[in-house]
Amino acid sequence: MDVHPNIDTCIAHARPRVAVSSCLLGEPVRFNGGHSRDRLLAGPLSEFVDWVPTCPEIAIGLGTPRETLRLERAPGGPRLVTRKTRKDLTEPMTSLGAAKAATLDVDGYVFKSKSPSCGIHGIPVYAGDAAADRRNRGVFAAEIIDAHPLLPVEDEGRLHDDVLREVFLERIFAHARLRALLRDGVRPDVLVAFHSRHKMQILAHDPAAYGRMGRLVACAGVRGGDRLVALYADEFRTALAARATIGRNVNVLHHCLGMVSDHLDPVRRADLVEVIHEYQVHLVALSVPIALLRHHARGAAAAYLRAQTYLSPYPHELGLRNHVPS
Ligand code: SF4
Repeated sequence: MDVHPNIDTCIAHARPRVAVSSCLLGEPVRFNGGHSRDRLLAGPLSEFVDWVPTCPEIAIGLGTPRETLRLERAPGGPRLVTRKTRKDLTEPMTSLGAAKAATLDVDGYVFKSKSPSCGIHGIPVYAGDAAADRRNRGVFAAEIIDAHPLLPVEDEGRLHDDVLREVFLERIFAHARLRALLRDGVRPDVLVAFHSRHKMQILAHDPAAYGRMGRLVACAGVRGGDRLVALYADEFRTALAARATIGRNVNVLHHCLGMVSDHLDPVRRADLVEVIHEYQVHLVALSVPIALLRHHARGAAAAYLRAQTYLSPYPHELGLRNHVPS
């Protein structure tokens, strides 16, 4: 297949820009002058990701050390309040979040867990001394997420779970490739080539979006234009936000098998079918049939399969997809 040369660069070298709560990288910005350095984020992931750190509490003018904050129940919604002096910081924190959200140009966001400013899950709202409700987000994080509902977001605690980390990393690398594509304007042939590389990955996440995106791309040469590209980008982000279930992966693995089937002898073909079945019944991890497909995709006849981002959605050094589904 003829593929625009820029696509190779944009797919192979796209490096995610990811916003992060500063304290997670080891910056001494916490209320007590300490940090919450996360060994995964500040360590191995730093080799593959450009971090964009922000500490919203420092950004609204609080220093270190400082009073701790909490969310408190109030008639118009939770307020962000200093614990002892009872200063209400909701307004400056909301304004900061809205301003950041308006200029945010990143592929994902990693927030610090359990923070009334940065937390994204289970932040308590207090009524008196008791936590009345634990289903809230931090004030800053809520502004970002409300403004960017398709942005991949996680907190550092959840990223230590293999499955959640894999989902997040797959999405930020996909967003980075899309950002690289959109950066210089998109010719119809480039959009077609980009979509062609992502077909199996999109199908594994969202078969309905796969159909819609195929129809959009088919019109690229006819009506093209910025609106079509914007629609495509939205569909792409939406598709990647859907979960790639075992059933969808099995379907895609069989599609991939079909692309190389004619070039395999019966024994190798049967091996691949068996390994896909073993993945389906939770005996092996997704990495096993993927590794076999990558091996069979080496020949010239398998160039289309080899180019699929599904086989390499992020750098293999990250070593994911190694958990057996349960
Ligand atoms: S959790 Fe957020 S507000 Fe708190 S120190 Fe870390 S970056 Fe700053």
